[in-house]
Amino acid sequence: MYEELCLYIDGEFIKGGGRREQDVMNPATGDFIGKVPHATTADLDRALAAAQRAFDAWKTVSPLEKSRVLRKVGELTRERASAIGRNITLDQGKPLAEAIGEVTRCADHCDWHAEECRRIYGRVIPPRQANVRQFVLREPVGVCAAFTPWNFPYNQAIRKIAAAIGAGCTIIIKGPEDTPSAVVAIARMFHEAGLPPGVLNVVWGVPSEVSEYLIRSPIVRKVSFTGSVAVGKQLAALAGAHMKRVTMELGGHSPVIVCADADVERAADLLSALKYSNAGQVCVSPNRFYVNDKVYDTFMARFIDRTKAIKVGSGLEPDTKMGPLAHERRLPAMAEFVADAAARGGRIELGGNRIGETGYFFAPTIITNPPDDSKVMTNEPFGPIAPCVTFKDLEEAIRRANSLPYGLSSYAFTTSTRNALAIQNGLQAGMVHINHAGGALPETPFGGIKDSGIGSEGGTETFDGYLTTKFVTQLD
Ligand code: NAD
Repeated sequence: MYEELCLYIDGEFIKGGGRREQDVMNPATGDFIGKVPHATTADLDRALAAAQRAFDAWKTVSPLEKSRVLRKVGELTRERASAIGRNITLDQGKPLAEAIGEVTRCADHCDWHAEECRRIYGRVIPPRQANVRQFVLREPVGVCAAFTPWNFPYNQAIRKIAAAIGAGCTIIIKGPEDTPSAVVAIARMFHEAGLPPGVLNVVWGVPSEVSEYLIRSPIVRKVSFTGSVAVGKQLAALAGAHMKRVTMELGGHSPVIVCADADVERAADLLSALKYSNAGQVCVSPNRFYVNDKVYDTFMARFIDRTKAIKVGSGLEPDTKMGPLAHERRLPAMAEFVADAAARGGRIELGGNRIGETGYFFAPTIITNPPDDSKVMTNEPFGPIAPCVTFKDLEEAIRRANSLPYGLSSYAFTTSTRNALAIQNGLQAGMVHINHAGGALPETPFGGIKDSGIGSEGGTETFDGYLTTKFVTQLD
């Protein structure tokens, strides 16, 4: 049974009831699986009023109680991971093991926020006069509006919700209409965990209409968005016009540098698994492969070999390693990247085509030697396409890696500490992974620089986005 889709406003689950509804499709089959109700303007006003009212009480609730609620949601998340994961596979397409893994790992996010929200401390600043006291208080920013995408529907939502709620804020979240089951499941668990009405509200609708309405509202004090750079810039501009703080977790075009001294075969194995996970629909997916010309042939042979072995199919089939793209609109987007690269001299070594006519499957694709200014080397493919080029020296590779306006994630493989140091100092990215692909843990920062965003949705830095600073000075 697929999730019963609904709005969640002021502690109440609200079904369609004559509202406009949007079809939800299974990307592996193209079949209809559910309808998600769009919030009316009256619903949004109700969510805003509820979040405002709830904030006045929630901000003063003991951190121990906030912690209890988050921990309970962590427990429920573990208990229900299989059922929630199955629904994510149905609406988003990723293989069941990946979907269940996404949900299970999110229980750690709940636990971590449950712990850390008890450690939001202010500080005391030594005064210049003996009879003066100086304090810095950290206070919740207020009502937050959050907008989350379809690629990790559970993970992206829980990070924002747990941080907001842990900090003492209230939140209205508009989840992804294409893949709505995870956010509804999250709302049900917070409800069961005893979260007071109005602290969390879930709405759906036409993204640009809902975001504009919420961001313009004087009730909303903070905006958090995960999605494309173009939309992030629009929302940040609107938030700026109303002087609201933002966290923007936007797209990237993560470079990979494979040095001549790397463990090349290990790099190829790891990168093939990473590149095609979630069909490449990952903001930190390795996207531009710069391989030293001395090891290029060895790397490519292994990378192609590993990638050929990826079994593409319905996420519900037990041996599937890569599912369909999450939406039909991503198919022409992939075809355009491939056509442009081929027209500009790139060689399609593997894939490059849609698979079948049913569902939105696109073959794992490897393109060699597309020019640096081709579409696939300059625009985030957000799909299963790996363009690979050669370089001669590390300085050149770092310069080419830094040549785009993005700066989210980056990867490098080397056994030399000198190279590793040059890479970590030289790469312009919010995250640098050397010889492995760790990250996206609750305790580690996650965010970009340059056009890839503002702020972090991971690590203790997360709370910075949901707290304000108040300086208090007192005489006698
Ligand atoms: P899109 O730009 O239309 O939408 C991306 C996401 O932003 C979706 O979840 C969508 O609902 C939301 N969105 C779009 N316009 C919005 C608005 N005005 N207000 C609030 N939310 C809005 O593109 P798409 O076809 O859905 O996805 C493709 C592109 O999105 C990719 O190229 C990728 O760069 C980006 N994306 C990034 C992430 C990420 O984790 N950074 C996740 C999903 C999509």
